[in-house]
Amino acid sequence: DNITPPITTDNTSFSGRSIEEVRQDFPILARTVHDKPFIYLDSTASSQKPSSVIEAMSHYYQNYNANVHRGVYAVSEEATAAMEKARVKIARFINARQSKQIIFTRNTTESINLVAHTWGSANITNGDLIILTEMEHHSNLVPWHLLAQRTGARLEFVPVTDDGLLRLDIYAELLQQQPKLVAFTHMSNVLGTINPVQDMIAQAHAAGAVTLVDAAQSVPHLPVDVQALDVDFLCFSAHKMLGPTGIGVLYGKKALLEAMPPFMGGGDMIRTVKLREFTTNDLPWKFEAGTPAIAEAIGFGAAIDYLNALGMEAVQQHEREITAYAMEKLQEVAGLTIYGPDASQRGGVISFTLADIHPHDLASILDQEVGVAIRAGHHCAQPLMERYDLAATARASFYVYTVKEEVDILVQGLQKAQEIFH
Ligand code: PLP
Repeated sequence: DNITPPITTDNTSFSGRSIEEVRQDFPILARTVHDKPFIYLDSTASSQKPSSVIEAMSHYYQNYNANVHRGVYAVSEEATAAMEKARVKIARFINARQSKQIIFTRNTTESINLVAHTWGSANITNGDLIILTEMEHHSNLVPWHLLAQRTGARLEFVPVTDDGLLRLDIYAELLQQQPKLVAFTHMSNVLGTINPVQDMIAQAHAAGAVTLVDAAQSVPHLPVDVQALDVDFLCFSAHKMLGPTGIGVLYGKKALLEAMPPFMGGGDMIRTVKLREFTTNDLPWKFEAGTPAIAEAIGFGAAIDYLNALGMEAVQQHEREITAYAMEKLQEVAGLTIYGPDASQRGGVISFTLADIHPHDLASILDQEVGVAIRAGHHCAQPLMERYDLAATARASFYVYTVKEEVDILVQGLQKAQEIFH
């Protein structure tokens, strides 16, 4: 076997740090699978975590673990301060005007469900139009299906071209029907397409609609400025951006969040409770019922520090280079089809099929033969699979720690799969 370990000649620099140094911050990258170096090409599903994130969380548990917002004692106040500091970091990271606009949820999915339940119940009635797109993750489809079932709202979908771009001409036509809400992804988790969200939001506002952007794949990978976008709601998950699982964010414009009824009821989200009535707490706690994910919020804050130190422009630039490199190298594999736009219009995710080999078989060969972890399946975007007449694709995705040598090993693995199957 001529498999080379992923020691890189890549001269990418993140604010003066080499990518080899960055890789050393991620302990899991030192492990092996099937006696081969572990090559992780599934960051779109969930990213790996640097030591600083893991240590921030265990430091909390070892030194100042207590419930937040309740105890009138030093350790609880420390925990509360650390959690609220994380909220401020996240607000700055996406340029929110105020940290009270950052609502902690479990993940992107819960953030979208929160809006569909609270804003949706208060604002959507029978016959109202909601515009979505054909490239949405199930998380940005099913909450709206459920709202439509509850209210009788109508759903329309912006189609996708053969090249994986949104049909913006049809979007403009749909906007003439005066939708109440437009919800779309910033970046497709299947095709990698980066949508022109700023223009799409401006057009939606001109048509009188409220906008929600699923930023699960954009906030981790490119600079996002909610004020520049002028977006009404924006949702993302910590686990896809070097942070822990179990915590995500709903950003919203203050006036909208203040007017919305609460989501779940319980402790923390109230100001006063009587036997037959209650009053709600201020933002952001009005939407945060029960004990929050405290260690996770602190870990999330550490992930933001880490990304800020790398610089989001550098992160985006690195992924552009790796993606362009991978798209070129993958051409070397006979019978391979890539879905989605050219490298200039996408982020670091590439979905492909290889001749008639089932993507699940491909993924297990790559794992066994070359230690490469990719994803295979419908990627929680079944309508998009249907659009391309596919049951599944294989998907490789990249992040700050991905090096070109890992792409080379992916290509070697795919060539091996060709030999095994043909
Ligand atoms: N939206 C997009 C575009 C995604 O890629 C994902 C996750 O794969 C989600 C939403 C859902 O994220 P989570 O599972 O963290 O709620």
